[in-house]
Amino acid sequence: MKQFNFCPHCGNEGLDWREGKQWFCNNCEFTYYHNSAAAVGAVLSCQDEILLTVRKHNPCQGKLDLPGGFVDYHESLEVALSREIREELNLLVSTQSWRYLFSYGNRYPYADIQYYTTDSFFHLQLEDKPEIVVGDDVAEIRWMKTNQIALEDIGLDSVRNAVEHFIKTDS
Ligand SMILES: [Zn+2]
Repeated sequence: MKQFNFCPHCGNEGLDWREGKQWFCNNCEFTYYHNSAAAVGAVLSCQDEILLTVRKHNPCQGKLDLPGGFVDYHESLEVALSREIREELNLLVSTQSWRYLFSYGNRYPYADIQYYTTDSFFHLQLEDKPEIVVGDDVAEIRWMKTNQIALEDIGLDSVRNAVEHFIKTDS
């Protein structure tokens, strides 16, 4: 983990990393909790295929992913997921449509900082493949038959676990 060199409150040099989850300033007792962030992911399925995205940016640029992202302040999981699906795929999905599947913890290295997330996954069964226009954060989409997905091509641990879990139990 890249160290923060100065206390953001008093400017004192040197912060202690405590209990694997917080930075503490011995001068002013400022504490920053590096908490797990909430994130969401969608399994969009159509017959025997699910929709995977190709990551445009790091971490895991070029690897397969599920559509989704971080939950913003004050959002519910369902609202965040419908927003992400609109932003990434230009698809309008009602927040009522999501069926909760399961959650997985994830590590998300970004700009030399190790972030931790708790990723909740939801399912939506589609009758037909909708027209999709990918947004700025997605390189491309791929509809893939569940028995042809190479799990090692999925970049993020939680997403790999979720796709494997979904294939075993729901498809
Ligand atoms: Zn301080």
